Amino acid sequence: MQLIALEDGKSVIALYAQKGKDYTCPGCQGTVRLRGGKQYQLHFFHPNPKTNCTNHSKSPYHLQTQLRLKKIFPDAHMEHYFPEVNRFADVVVPSKKLIFEVQCSPISLFEVRARQKAYARTGYLLVWILHEKNFNKRRLSDSERHLRKFPSYYTNIDPRGKGWIYDQLELISDVKRFYIGKKCPIHLTQHYYFKKDMFQKSPKSLTDRIENWPVFFSGDLLFRIWRDPDFSDLLTHLEKKGKRQKTKKIWITLFKNIVALHDKHLKAALLRNAKRS
Ligand SMILES: [Zn+2]
Repeated sequence: MQLIALEDGKSVIALYAQKGKDYTCPGCQGTVRLRGGKQYQLHFFHPNPKTNCTNHSKSPYHLQTQLRLKKIFPDAHMEHYFPEVNRFADVVVPSKKLIFEVQCSPISLFEVRARQKAYARTGYLLVWILHEKNFNKRRLSDSERHLRKFPSYYTNIDPRGKGWIYDQLELISDVKRFYIGKKCPIHLTQHYYFKKDMFQKSPKSLTDRIENWPVFFSGDLLFRIWRDPDFSDLLTHLEKKGKRQKTKKIWITLFKNIVALHDKHLKAALLRNAKRS
């Protein structure tokens, strides 16, 4: 259900729109109008549906994140078609050769790889914006674990368009995140390719990123370290604290298990004695 449209380039939520008025679809730039009310939730529809517009099936979280990217990059195209790979990308910035894929719903590792393979052929750099609705939980799916090895950030943008696209310090062990740092809002306006010896020091959890991602973006954690190398010490300190907490938790769990086992044996022994006497 499409809940967002454009009026004079600004986003309008269906709840505040007027019936009988023409609005613009942020996806296909076609005309949309308002319908619904008493029995159905108010929403926009395409009076002349275009086969390539998938906006009606996109959640308001997805649309608002797309609109945020469009605000950051005014020259961006939404639902941009790449004929060479026969795909529509969510947001494309031709001047910077960037593709942003906004992901709100769960996605399979197979589909992630298919998109990566396809977009690699366009010569554009693919960046994933993963929504908190299904990502950045304690447990990571196969696809999210894979995606963290490539340029990817998180977002909590809500249906009214409030929220951030952000980076974070995180510690992952196997399929679980055991430490999540503060949300660090990012600007994305500029990206920088890694150069040799650009980072003299960095926290351990970001060395993978330096090795695997081709770029970093303005405002993200590595950008902040690049601007102020001392910021790395702060992150390293937080990282150590996170690891200590995990070790502490393991010891507490182990201790609890030992106590529980001891109690169980004690109870069984008491029961045996009671039966004998
Ligand atoms: Zn449309």
